[in-house]
Amino acid sequence: MEKKRQPYLGNPQETIAVLNKYQFTFQKKFGQNFLIDTHVLDKIISAAGITEDDFVLEIGPGIGTMTQYLASAAREVCAVEIDKSLIPILEDTLKEYDNVTVINEDILKVDIGKLAEEKNQGRPIKVVANLPYYITTPIIMGLFESHVPVESITVMVQKEVADRMQVGPGTKEYGALSLAVQYYAKPYIVANVPPNCFMPRPKVGSAVIRLTRHDQPPVQVKDEKLLFSIIRASFNQRRKTLANGLKNYEGFHFTKEEIEAAIAQCGFSPSIRGEALSLKEFAMLADVLAS
Ligand code: SAM
Repeated sequence: MEKKRQPYLGNPQETIAVLNKYQFTFQKKFGQNFLIDTHVLDKIISAAGITEDDFVLEIGPGIGTMTQYLASAAREVCAVEIDKSLIPILEDTLKEYDNVTVINEDILKVDIGKLAEEKNQGRPIKVVANLPYYITTPIIMGLFESHVPVESITVMVQKEVADRMQVGPGTKEYGALSLAVQYYAKPYIVANVPPNCFMPRPKVGSAVIRLTRHDQPPVQVKDEKLLFSIIRASFNQRRKTLANGLKNYEGFHFTKEEIEAAIAQCGFSPSIRGEALSLKEFAMLADVLAS
């Protein structure tokens, strides 16, 4: 088998050379902070567990730094980039890799299920990215909720968001995102990454997190949609009790009495707050309210 090309991007000098060659100007609105640290790149590739059998979806390739690493490790890579001024740069930096396709599109508009079907015969894909932080939650929830076949998601996110994905009840970071992520996947924080590993430097700390999708969610509920509405309602007004949060939530048709009875039936205190409940307890409440 032909030996694959080794990545050459990933350090400040090469990145600056590419940016200067194309007179590229960073667009803040696209969350552009390019990686310039080869150790971090190696860590991401190893945490994602990429093998020569894998089809990888990369979100936001930028100038193609991580794409080179992914292309060296995987069977095939598809990279979706919204910024059309990066497309000629990617054509240049990825010209020696024949297993990469670049799509100039907004990732939130891409039919990832169709992509997995076409490129990976519908088998679960791996998603790897240094995410644009402004759309972290819609990207991750979109991947889970659309039920596209995804085996794992290994991404760079804002550190605070990685913490939120990983924590349990009783912490101030715990919320709807923690529960949603943990319903679908097992989170693992791989590394914290300081701002000096990026160009330009972001104002916040970052972390690499791997989300490994569960074969089966850890709780089984009668109505998944109701479970997520309850979770959203409970954290919508964080300072309110669970009962008040649910009562005030638009879109619920439950009466005050029904909500109080359901909370009592679960054995929770009437003054309990949503932030004290585990996923299992939310599931119990959803099933009581469903019946
Ligand atoms: N992967 C590169 C790296 O690590 O150096 C760049 C990462 S940068 C944090 C995020 C990238 O996502 C940028 O290239 C940006 O243009 C792109 N991007 C932003 N919004 C996007 C969207 N909605 N769909 C696809 N790509 C997007």
